[in-house]
Amino acid sequence: MIIQLTDLYQVPGKTAGYDVMPDAECIAGYPIVSCEPVHLVIHHEKDRAITVEGSISLVLTIPCDRCLKPVETTVTADLSRMLDGQRFTDEDGETVEYLEGDMLDAGRLIEEAVIENLPMKVLCREDCKGLCPKCGRDLNEGPCGCEDDKPLTGMGEAILKAFQNAGK
Ligand SMILES: [Zn+2]
Ligand SMILES: [Zn+2]
Repeated sequence: MIIQLTDLYQVPGKTAGYDVMPDAECIAGYPIVSCEPVHLVIHHEKDRAITVEGSISLVLTIPCDRCLKPVETTVTADLSRMLDGQRFTDEDGETVEYLEGDMLDAGRLIEEAVIENLPMKVLCREDCKGLCPKCGRDLNEGPCGCEDDKPLTGMGEAILKAFQNAGK
């Protein structure tokens, strides 16, 4: 969604609120299930430098990290950005265009805030058994019969667990 800043730009120190919906159907490839309108507060400092603030809460469908089953996941993000005239430089030093003339690409700002706040890992349930690495069967639905080759996998899992526990 594009916000027209023409009026805001006329008055230094002016603040205005906007209700915005993301215009994309997907964020980072994950379909949006539902989204509350995002209330953005935009403050014009002076000389076309603005701050944009808002709280985002939406539900995305993200595949389970282990079995790939789609999981409806609530993602929340606090958006707080300073935009200086035309350009904004992100953390990697790359120039991102959010403004074109008097038009602010609010949809893009929201999408990027959500991407920054995506969960590292989504599980359909805490004890999801995942897919068999050999045959691809969903092990939540029962064993698959590849068990003969277990030793190697078991070892790998033990090492992984040790790492996970060390990280706790
Ligand atoms: Zn799962
Ligand atoms: Zn199998």
